[in-house]
Amino acid sequence: MATKKTGIGCSFCGRPKNEVGVLIAGVSGHICDNCIEQAHQIIDEQSKFDKEKGVETDFNLLRPAEIKSHLDEYVIGQDEAKRVLAVAVYNHYKRLSLAKNDEEIEIDKSNVILVGRTGTGKTLLAKTIAKSLNVPFCIADATVLTEAGYVGEDVESILSRLLQAADFNVEAAERGIVFIDEIDKIARKSDNPSITRDVSGEGVQQAMLKLLEGTEVNVPPQGGRKHPEQKMIKVNTKNILFVAGGAFDGIERIIARRVNTNLIGFASKEMTKPDGENLLQYIIPSDIKEFGLIPELIGRMPVLTYLHPLDEKALRRILTEPKNALVKQYIHLFSLDKVDLKFDAEVLDFMVEKALEYKLGARGLRSICEAILNDAMFDIPSDKKIKEFRVTLEYAQSKFAGSKLAQLKIA
Ligand code: ADP
Repeated sequence: MATKKTGIGCSFCGRPKNEVGVLIAGVSGHICDNCIEQAHQIIDEQSKFDKEKGVETDFNLLRPAEIKSHLDEYVIGQDEAKRVLAVAVYNHYKRLSLAKNDEEIEIDKSNVILVGRTGTGKTLLAKTIAKSLNVPFCIADATVLTEAGYVGEDVESILSRLLQAADFNVEAAERGIVFIDEIDKIARKSDNPSITRDVSGEGVQQAMLKLLEGTEVNVPPQGGRKHPEQKMIKVNTKNILFVAGGAFDGIERIIARRVNTNLIGFASKEMTKPDGENLLQYIIPSDIKEFGLIPELIGRMPVLTYLHPLDEKALRRILTEPKNALVKQYIHLFSLDKVDLKFDAEVLDFMVEKALEYKLGARGLRSICEAILNDAMFDIPSDKKIKEFRVTLEYAQSKFAGSKLAQLKIA
């Protein structure tokens, strides 16, 4: 046999040349197709293992000041909320690394409640933090949740979304951040424990307790109701950070009553009557309880902070300052068509004015921009001659007046 004579064969498995498909020569030996395939599998598995291991440690544990300055790049104002959140998040994730080292002192979770009007940046804060830490993030709407067995979504469906955000990597999901929106909408209707069943209020709060505290939950991967035939994924919520947000409409009255009573009680000269606008800064957990969240739920979300309403100055800054500010986004969009987009300063003031007038808040700035720029965005890509587009106040006013948005004004 030729191989025996020449001795050519795979240097790895020893098979002679005539027993293998392909034999590749190296500097001092040969490798056969079989061994290449096996080596490839080993490399694949190793990289899969590294990836999983990597995911375990692959989130950035930023210090509170670093978290805050990251938030500053995206969220205007809301300093108090940023500081409180930064500390809560830092402690939460530090707690995670301690848990691994089997420390004796177990640190409690620091789930957070954010109180502030709609559109003031609650979701944005939570989302930005998740991004900076590189952990999965999802938004769940508390209003669609109902107690198990009733029409609506089970609380477990919240975790389906987190799993999806984590590409079904359970380990990553287990240290993700869940933002529960409109937590105030599941308040019970009075401060007294209800006698009749309260399916969408107190019942949901009760159902949420175990999730918040930390437990193994069977999650339907595609969401929806649990079907016996659907394969469940086990997710432990022990290290998931829950941030709940709500406007808590009318809570100022509760705070005012309490603060005023205290003021009279203390009759202290230093304590001035708080100004009406900013009553939220005095919020304490008992106000939320009076509003209708059950004490057990409040106990499991021990960090409480507030957001300011956005005034004219804040809205104006939101238009231009954040890293992905609206104005920057539109300029970029136009630049992709090689058009230099410019806004006159008065146009920005005009947009803010309309957002306030129509009570649209920061969210409305986007619709206003769209209303003003839509025609330009339609026409300009077809006209190669246009190299620059300047938005003047006159142009903005006329486009806005002709838009559907302008007719939306509520009397
Ligand atoms: P909510 O308080 O209702 O959760 P969001 O965080 O969803 O409000 O805000 C809606 C949008 O308005 C955001 O996506 C963002 O574009 C803008 N926005 C709101 N508040 C701020 C803020 N403080 N800084 C920058 N942008 C903001």
